[in-house]
Amino acid sequence: MEQNNLIESKVREMLETERRVYPCRSNRASAMGHECLRYLVYCRTNWQDKKVPEITLQYIFEMGNVIEDMALARLKKAGFEVTQQQRDFADDKNGITGHIDGYVQVDGKHYPLEIKSMSGHIWPGINTVEDMKKSSHRWVRGYPSQLNLYLYLAGKEKGLFYLVNKQTGEGKDIWMAIDYDLAERDIKKAEAVNKHMADKTVPDRIPFDPDMCIGCDFEHICLKAGSRF
Ligand code: SF4
Repeated sequence: MEQNNLIESKVREMLETERRVYPCRSNRASAMGHECLRYLVYCRTNWQDKKVPEITLQYIFEMGNVIEDMALARLKKAGFEVTQQQRDFADDKNGITGHIDGYVQVDGKHYPLEIKSMSGHIWPGINTVEDMKKSSHRWVRGYPSQLNLYLYLAGKEKGLFYLVNKQTGEGKDIWMAIDYDLAERDIKKAEAVNKHMADKTVPDRIPFDPDMCIGCDFEHICLKAGSRF
């Protein structure tokens, strides 16, 4: 018998099976822009305790993956060769790893490429790497560290973000020159994480910041029960 949402209930069941946390055995470049060292240590020592994404977030992750595929297909259709998709990087000394979305060829040169999809209300305000660094959204503030570490590990001077507006589908490319100060700051963070792991210690909490702490993947183990600290 026909029934509304018969199909969607099956889709939801499928997505439910994809809600999980993954082991974290390195300092991931995608996380190194996070501004709380305690969070970065928990990612390594307590990854099993990380909150499992809500089903609503799982829908968003899936949409992000679809948009990334669409963006790659779009770039290729527009005549840009994209190679080395999902190439892995590793810095064994500092335990940093990552994988890049690809290298895009522009005027005969290959540049590291990072694709990000973005809500329509954030989109108009992000036109430069500086805009990302100053964003009020903590995950956007972390984007430059991610691409910058790829540039550093790949020995490249320049790379680019290709952003896609989730509401309209529009794209924009934002170029980034390697920022050695930022790379040094993020490598120092990785060293600090490694030291805490070796010493079996956890850094202090940052002063309570609702933007950072409410909704943090580790707030349930970090914040004292019933209080903000
Ligand atoms: S709840 Fe706040 S202090 Fe604790 S790990 Fe998360 S961001 Fe850091």
